[in-house]
Amino acid sequence: MTTHYRAVVIGAGQAGLAASHELLTRGLRPWHDFVVLDANDAPGGAWRHRWDSLTLGKAHGIASLPGLPFGKADETVPASVVVADYYGDYERKFGLPVVRPAPVTRVTSPDGPRRGPLRVEYEHEGARVLTTDVLLNATGT
Ligand SMILES: Cc1cc2nc3c(=O)[nH]c(=O)nc-3n(C[C@H](O)[C@H](O)[C@H](O)COP(=O)(O)OP(=O)(O)OC[C@H]3O[C@@H](n4cnc5c(N)ncnc54)[C@H](O)[C@@H]3O)c2cc1C
Repeated sequence: MTTHYRAVVIGAGQAGLAASHELLTRGLRPWHDFVVLDANDAPGGAWRHRWDSLTLGKAHGIASLPGLPFGKADETVPASVVVADYYGDYERKFGLPVVRPAPVTRVTSPDGPRRGPLRVEYEHEGARVLTTDVLLNATGT
């Protein structure tokens, strides 16, 4: 049987995490009503792929996600580590239902445009399929 959700978020970068927080505030229950599918192996979105010499503090900074202030970054630690740690803390604090690695390979609308649930195909320990009423595309660049 295909699992059905009220909402699915694709991507767990800052956009996907902020969108997930909004789903929580609207009363959607993690794992029951929505999940987040992220292609990365671990938290951080695009930030975890930045090079080691890029740090936060001089030219670079990030905005706080809703509900957890970022605070002051350690300028001696690569941004790829600092931001990934912050996003990981965020996922844990709010119990966000992130599945990874889970690259989405295809989204279709079997009942026609704007009709019925969307069908989402993804990889996670093999090929999988779920359906959802709402899809939030937060795949970044
Ligand atoms: C060199 C550089 C420096 C930057 N410096 C700053 C800065 O100082 N401050 C700032 O605010 N911004 C900065 N940015 C921009 C910032 O990195 C982006 O705005 C931010 O990462 C966008 O967040 P996002 O959540 O939209 O996407 P991303 O961070 O790209 O996250 C998208 C997520 O979706 C996942 N994904 C993608 N495709 C799929 C798929 N098919 N299935 C499942 N998951 C998928 C990815 O694995 C990723 O985890 C910088 C960018 C660059 C390149």
